[in-house]
Amino acid sequence: MSYSHILIAVDFPDASAHVVRRAADIARQDAATMSLLHVVDYLPPLGFADDLLPAPALLVDEKELLEHGTSSLEAFARKLGLPAEVRRHVVLGAPHQQIVEYANTNGVDLIVLGSHGRHGLGRLLGSTANAVLNHAACDVLAVRIAA
Ligand code: AMP
Repeated sequence: MSYSHILIAVDFPDASAHVVRRAADIARQDAATMSLLHVVDYLPPLGFADDLLPAPALLVDEKELLEHGTSSLEAFARKLGLPAEVRRHVVLGAPHQQIVEYANTNGVDLIVLGSHGRHGLGRLLGSTANAVLNHAACDVLAVRIAA
């Protein structure tokens, strides 16, 4: 069995060259497409009623967040020398939800993410890696990264 579309979930400041290399090895073997996804961990504040807007102090410029995420992902991809064919995507939302949704809607058959050695099994529960593992419809590879 070979993979056709590998999604690498990239977080900052934890973005790991080691995780990308592992994914790239598999992509090379399988002649698979690779995509990078960074989720800007942000949920817009909700008002308590339809006509109640969040306090101005809570309002964040979503465009600015996306631009910052995009330039961080681009800098990371450039540092690793990834070609333009490796698609880059930046979205706002809850990381595990967006990773799973992207995978489901883009024909991803392997999600590759990092896993910190410092997380014991107990601490892993509730983490992004664990949530993706529980909700993904495809295979998930958690690559151990230095703590
Ligand atoms: P965590 O479970 O939070 O330690 O994260 C484990 C892995 O999930 C990270 O190494 C990334 O591969 C992925 N991940 C976590 N947060 C994000 C995010 N905001 N965007 C994309 N991937 C993420």
